[in-house]
Amino acid sequence: MLRFQIAFTIVAFACASALAAEKENQMKFGMVIHGGAGTIERGEMTPPKEQAYRAGLEQALKAGYVVLERGASSLDAVEAAVRVLEDNPLFNAGKGAVFTHQGTNELDASIMDGKTLNAGAVAAVQHIRNPISLARLVMEKSPHVMLVGEGAEAFGKQMGVPFVDQKYFYTEERWQALQKAKASPTPVSDKDRHGTVGAVALDKAGNLAAATSTGGITNKQFGRVGDSPIIGAGTYANNETCAVSCTGDGEYFIRIDVAHDVSAMMQYRKMPVKEAAQAAIAKVGKLGGGGGLIAIDRNGHFAMPFNTSGMYRGHVGPDGKIQIEIYR
Ligand code: ASP
Repeated sequence: MLRFQIAFTIVAFACASALAAEKENQMKFGMVIHGGAGTIERGEMTPPKEQAYRAGLEQALKAGYVVLERGASSLDAVEAAVRVLEDNPLFNAGKGAVFTHQGTNELDASIMDGKTLNAGAVAAVQHIRNPISLARLVMEKSPHVMLVGEGAEAFGKQMGVPFVDQKYFYTEERWQALQKAKASPTPVSDKDRHGTVGAVALDKAGNLAAATSTGGITNKQFGRVGDSPIIGAGTYANNETCAVSCTGDGEYFIRIDVAHDVSAMMQYRKMPVKEAAQAAIAKVGKLGGGGGLIAIDRNGHFAMPFNTSGMYRGHVGPDGKIQIEIYR
């Protein structure tokens, strides 16, 4: 009888703690965003400019938080946050995209669902107002993962997404950056090209998602595509490990396959997200590249490493408190 009572107590306790753990897990949700890594010096930032960047990041985090808070998917949340950043001329994505060598704007974006490993991407689109939403449509409404250039735009027409004239992407600051880059004998400074945007999120159901959007790098050559729309390089999400969005010298991030590398180190080597993220950025640095990434795991732990002097970044958890950082 006593033995039965002990066994019963143990089973009841185990069930109760499993339920509590599950409940706690369900309560965990959060989002991390970036607005690009590069040379961002405190001394060169005016207070109004810094305030504008902070406000832009805050607005994006709020947009994502509202979605997560009401119990919607991390996929919806990352898309909502990235759209806000794409519409903000301060960031190198959507409206604020940098100029190519030819003086045009060519935009790249990708999104990935950690639950299903479905993914969608577009590259070198020139007239899509919100490339991240077109990337999501590629994922959900086409049998493909990546569509580029005119083909991606033809698909966008079929889907009825908003189109804009190239003039929409004109910002004086980006235009001047192109003139400076063209006049400079050395390759473009990262000061003139940071600003790519990205978001990673964990929702109440425990699903992870990642999204990245960019105009690429100032003065890029015809047809150049960076890491941002490449699944595994600039964006990756897997419920078994983490969700990642990168920013920096795309040519290096592609060769290291940074976003998937973080996930792989977690999966194969059982590394925590912070260590894996840091190790991946160290590999980029060793090869000579600059940049950073944001990553969140299925328990809501996150990392925001970078090897440049700054990275626009921020995060929000279940309490809704928004934290924004810019410098090292
Ligand atoms: N990674 C982007 C690209 O290479 C640029 C950036 O993040 O600044 O296109």
